[in-house]
This record gives sequence, C-alpha cells and structure tokens, in this order.
Amino acid sequence: MSGHSHRTPDGFAAQAREALGDRTLTQAMRRVTDLFAERRAAALETVPDWQELRQQARAIKLHTLARLDHYLAQFAGAAAKNGAIVHWAEDAAAACRIVGELAQVHRATRLVKSKSMATEEIHLNAALAAAGTEPVETDLGEWIIQLAGEMPSHIIVPAIHKTRQQISELFVDKLGVAPSDEPTVLAAEARERLRQHFAEADMGISGVNFGVAETGTILVLENEGNARMTTTLPKVHVAVMGIEKVIPRFADLEVFLRLLPRSGTGQHLTSYQSLLTGPDVGVPGRAGQGPRELHLVLLDNGRANIAVDETMRETLACIRCGACLNACPVYQSVGGHAYGAVYPGPIGAILTPQLQGMHQAAALPFASSLCGACKDVCPVQIDIPSLLLELRKRAVEGEAPGAAPAKRAAFEALTWKLWAWFVRSPGRYRFAAAMARLGDKLPLVKRLLPPMRAWASSRALPRLAKRPFRAGHKDGGS
Ligand code: SF4
Repeated sequence: MSGHSHRTPDGFAAQAREALGDRTLTQAMRRVTDLFAERRAAALETVPDWQELRQQARAIKLHTLARLDHYLAQFAGAAAKNGAIVHWAEDAAAACRIVGELAQVHRATRLVKSKSMATEEIHLNAALAAAGTEPVETDLGEWIIQLAGEMPSHIIVPAIHKTRQQISELFVDKLGVAPSDEPTVLAAEARERLRQHFAEADMGISGVNFGVAETGTILVLENEGNARMTTTLPKVHVAVMGIEKVIPRFADLEVFLRLLPRSGTGQHLTSYQSLLTGPDVGVPGRAGQGPRELHLVLLDNGRANIAVDETMRETLACIRCGACLNACPVYQSVGGHAYGAVYPGPIGAILTPQLQGMHQAAALPFASSLCGACKDVCPVQIDIPSLLLELRKRAVEGEAPGAAPAKRAAFEALTWKLWAWFVRSPGRYRFAAAMARLGDKLPLVKRLLPPMRAWASSRALPRLAKRPFRAGHKDGGS
C-alpha cells in the first residue's frame, strides 16, 4: 500500500504546506520540471505546423468523444475479430475483479506490469496483492516507487520527486546493494532484477495510449523496452484501457505521435511504439511472436458520465502527456503527492473531482492561480482554466452551506458587494480609502483581520500611496 495513502484530494491545502516545507522536494521539482519545459520548447521548434497539429488533435478527440459509443463498439468489434477478448468494466472494482479472475484462471502467480495510469487509478496492484499476486512494476520509475511504497507523483515521470541520493538509499535499504548514486549503476541493478521477472512471468499487464477503432489495434508508448517485454513475453497479456483512449482511424495516430512525445519529454518520438493487433494466433512460421491470449479491459469508472456532460467533455481529450504539470507553477512548487490523488497537477484538478466525485475532491479546482500556462502547453488545447472555473461553480452550488468552498464563495460575494457599495458614492469611497491608509500604518491590523491575515501570512501586502491620486490631481499634478 502507498506510504502516502493518508493523503486525500480535500487535504490539498495542508499537504501543499507540508510539501513547501520540504526543500529537497521543492528543489528537485523545480529542476526537473524546468528541464522538461526546456526540452519541450526545443522539440517544438522542429515542427512548424505545431498549432495546426494541435487543432487537428483536438478536432479528432472532440469528434470521437461526441460519438464515443459508436467508436467503442467499432473498436471492440475489430479487436474481437483480431482474436482479442474484450471485457467491459463499469468501475474500478469490476476492472480489478476481471484482471484478478484472469490471473486465477491462468494460474498466473508471477505478474509483470508496465506503466499505466489507468491501473493506478483503479489501484490494481493493491487489489491483486490482496489476492496474493502483486505484479512487479517494470518501468524504472514505477519500480522505484513500488519499492518505496509510494504513489506516482507525475503522470509520465512517476519518481520525479526523488533525488538520485534518495534512490540510492532506497536500493541499499530494499535490495541490500552497495550505495551508489550513479544513474548507470542504479539502472543496471534494476535491469538485472527485472530481467529475471520478465523471464518468469505468466501474465503481463499494460495500459494503452491509443486504441484504433478502425483496426482494433492498441498502441503502447514507452522508452525502456519494458512495455514491449510485458506485452510480448508472457503467454497472457491484459491491457487496461480507459474508454476515452479510442480514436477513429489508424492514420490519426500520426497526429498524436507527433504531439505526445514532444509535449511530454521533449522527444521527437518515444524509443518504443508497440502496435498490437490481436494475440499470436499460431500462424505457421510466425508462432511465438507474442502472447497467446490478449485481453482488453475497457474501463469506464466515471468516464461515460463525463462524456455526456457537454461542458466538461473535453477533459477526456487528455492524452496524458504531462506538459500541463511541468508548466504549472502550483505543481512545480508542491509536487504531485500534495494533490492526494493519482492524477496530479492541472489535469488532475479537473479529472479527479469528476472521477471521484465533488464530495471528495472539491478543494482541487481551487488549487490553481488560473494563470493559463496549462492551456498554453496542452497539445489538445484543453481549456483547463475554464473547466476549473466551471468546477468551482459546481462545487459552490452543490455544497452544503457550511462547506469550505461554499463559505469561501459567500465571503467573496460579500466582499464584492461591500466594494460595490463603497465605490458607488464619492463620500463612502473617500472614507474607505482613509480607513485603508490608516490600516496601512498599523501593521497589527494586517495581522489580525482574518482575510488580511491569510493573505499576509505568505505574501507582502502592497503599500498604499502616501497621497491619493485625487489629491495630486486637484493640485495640478504636483
Ligand atoms: S491536459 Fe493536456 S497538457 Fe495536461 S496531460 Fe492532458 S494532454 Fe497533456
């Protein structure tokens, strides 16, 4: 189980404060997110038609999401025709049950798994561990956090919060190896151990980046070769795919393959792209080139409800590149664990309340300064700030009057009403300005008044001008 399982989406404020007090974490986050942002910017320069590509990707995704049932049926039909066995999972429990039963039926006790956010979302490892068959994570970053008993803190770089020194200490502690913070030594150690797991595995579990409706093909992107091994070496492959990952045509992949790696890691292309169209059906001369069984678990878990919500639907256009996390000043400062959910950062702030319900995650849409950096970098142009505002509105409207977002909204509404009352009359305005100047001279006021206190606890309040503009204007600008 995660060592951070006590964290919750609604605990964001306290968790963020705790993260800000961890200097090692904040420095590591800043360094790595800056590096990814630089690499992304350099990679973009090689694509003159970047904006057109974004528009194309957005159009494909929005078109598909508006006809999701049609494309899913087409995908499932084509996949079945290729020999894959398709399962529909309404929620996390159903998906875990399906994978667990497959392991049982195949007497699979040695499971390997490649990185997949969908399986993180449904807490598959914990469910399988409870049945005595926890899979071994084979992506290096995922393996590190599995050893550490933590949750990923980034959707494509799960161990982004860990320094080399911390990873070395973890390896010494869990694997009993000699200390070294040399990346090549650490990677060699991991490779040695993971190879053994691949050789022995009865079942491989992966996620899916895109599912092509036209051909029933799934695409898995990665850089380490571990997903290729997970999906081809064991005799059974189980792929868990969120239903929003479907795209209509094989040719659409070209658009996404140009956008996703550049946005995520600044690569022109990931090192491996595994296109899987059905299992190895024993064609003479081609036998042994893949798993004998391919199971596709199509996961809803709240997605169908988002798809029918026309305002929020574009949340599902996300291709999980992670660019919005790297660009977000909040994520850069507090890291992923502060969000208390599997999906952190800007995309997590809109996705988590919709997947888990506003009653559990109403704090997350407020965990943003609405600066818009996420929207600027998103390869599918998701308007995250507008969606955050919509969720804030829903949080306030749907909350009990005493709940935190509702109280905050009521306070804001009162503040604006008071402001409007003061500025509508010159006399009242002068009085308010005189009071503000008096308060400015008394630092205690700033520290005692509740709204001022909250503001001044982490920021320097701007000083008011000694003389009001009106006075100078009256004196002829002196
Ligand atoms: S919302 Fe956009 S930028 Fe963020 S992870 Fe998804 S696709 Fe990438």
